[in-house]
Amino acid sequence: MENSANNIQLEMNFNTPSGNRFRRCLERGVFTVLFEHSAPGRELTDQEAARRLAQLEKQVLAIRDMPVALALTDRKNSDSSRRAVEYAALLPEKNRNAHLIYLSGRNTSQESMGGLIAQAVSSNLSNLVAVSGESRPGETSKNVSEMEFCESINTLRSMHNTTVPQPFFAGATVNGHLNSAPALYSSLFKLIKKFNSGAEFAVTQAGFDMAQLDAVRKYLSWRGYHQALIARLMLLTPERVEKIIANAMPGITISEDFLAILEKELQFSASQFEAAQYRRLELQAAGCKLLGYSGIQIAGADTPQKIAIAAERIARALKEFTTLQQWADEYKFYMARSDMAPADEHFYLFEDLLTGKTGDTSTPPLTEFTVPELSFFKRCGDMARRFLFPEVDTQDADERRWLKKLLAGCRGCRNCRLPQTQFYCTERCPKRLANGICGGVRHNGLCEIGNQSCVHLAIWQSAEKRKMCDTLENNFIPPGN
Ligand code: SF4
Repeated sequence: MENSANNIQLEMNFNTPSGNRFRRCLERGVFTVLFEHSAPGRELTDQEAARRLAQLEKQVLAIRDMPVALALTDRKNSDSSRRAVEYAALLPEKNRNAHLIYLSGRNTSQESMGGLIAQAVSSNLSNLVAVSGESRPGETSKNVSEMEFCESINTLRSMHNTTVPQPFFAGATVNGHLNSAPALYSSLFKLIKKFNSGAEFAVTQAGFDMAQLDAVRKYLSWRGYHQALIARLMLLTPERVEKIIANAMPGITISEDFLAILEKELQFSASQFEAAQYRRLELQAAGCKLLGYSGIQIAGADTPQKIAIAAERIARALKEFTTLQQWADEYKFYMARSDMAPADEHFYLFEDLLTGKTGDTSTPPLTEFTVPELSFFKRCGDMARRFLFPEVDTQDADERRWLKKLLAGCRGCRNCRLPQTQFYCTERCPKRLANGICGGVRHNGLCEIGNQSCVHLAIWQSAEKRKMCDTLENNFIPPGN
C-alpha cells in the first residue's frame, strides 16, 4: 500500500503528464485525501481566480505522505459563481485529472448540463461527480420548484452516452447519515441506481456518525457493490455548528449528545476549539481508512494553511491507528460514548458496528424494521389511483387531468409516469426528481425544503409492501418535461 502511494507521488514529482492519478489511486486501493473548495464568483478575474487555485493546488500536490488533491464543488454558495468545470480548466492541464470536479444540477437544464459535460471533455477533465444540487437557506418550495434541477441520474446517463477520447471516471453521492429505515433504504437504493447508471465510486454526505459510515460500506459489500467509497468529513467552526443547528446545511444533522459536546467545546478558547476539531478529524480520517473507505473529502479546510495542518494531522493519525479495535476504543473514548443518532430516530442497518477486524468482509444480520402503515385515507387514495390510472403513462398528458390533479396532485407535466412511480406523482418533489430521494433529505425523512415528508418515502413504502424494491434500483424514470 505504501509503495503504491509513493509510486503515485513519484509520478507527480517527475512533472510528467500524470494520466488519471485520482482514478489510479482509487483502483489501487491507495487511501486518498481530497480538500473541498468552491468555485469563486465571477467578480474575480480569470487571472486572480487561477492564481488562488494554483496556490491551493501547489499546497495539495506538495504533500508527500499520501495522495492529496482538490475536490472542486459546483453551485454551492451562489448560482452566479463560475461553474466548477470552468474553474478547473484554469488548472495546468497535466494535473487536472489528479482532482475531482462536481457537476451540480441546480438551476441547470438537461441541455446546459450537456454543455458542461462537453466543456469537461474539451478541458480533459475526467473525474466528475454528478449531484442533483441543493436548496439554499431561506428558499421555499415555491422558489425551488420554479428552478430546473438536472437529476444526477440524468447527468450520469449523459456522461455514459458521451463519446470521449479518455473515458470519464464518474462518481455519485449518497446520504448515509439517515436514521429512519425508509429514508436510509431509499437513499441506498438510489445510490445503487446511480451505480447502475454508470457511477464508479461514491462520496457520502457529510456527517459525524462513524457507525453509519461503517453500515453503508458493509451493506454495499453485502449487496455485491464494491465500488470505492469516499467519506465527506467536515472541519467544524462555530459558524458551521450554528448553521447545522439552524438546519441551514441540507442533509446534515447532529445528535443531542454530539451537540452537547460541541456546546462544551464552544466554551473553550478559539484555539482550543480548533484543536478539538482537528483531533476529531484525525480520528474520523483514520476510522474511515480502517472501515474500508478509499478516501475522504474534507469540507472546511480551504486555505493553504488549513490544508497543510489538516494533512499533517491526518497523516499522523493514519500511522497512529493500525487496527479497527485500537481505533474504535480511542474514538469512543474521545466521543464520550455519545449516542450519535438524533433522539427521534434511531435506525441503523446493523446492530454490531465499529467492531471486528480491519478489512473484515463478513456481514452481521440486518436490523429488522416495520414498514410504516398508511393511514386509512392514504390507503383509499392509493387504491383509487391504482384502479383509475393503470395506463396513464401511455395516454395523452391531458387525459383525466382533473382526476389526476385531485387524486395524485398532478402538476400537469407532459410525461405522466404514475404507473412507474407506485402511483405517486414525483412532480410533488420541489426539485422534481423522479428517480429517488436527494441527499438533502432530513434524517427522519422530512423533505429538505418545508415540513412535508419526501415523496420518495411514500414510493419506497409502497414498493417495499409489494416486494418491488428492485424497481427502485433498476428502473430509470425519465423527466416530466
Ligand atoms: S421531496 Fe425528497 S427528493 Fe425532493 S427535494 Fe424533498 S427531500 Fe429531496
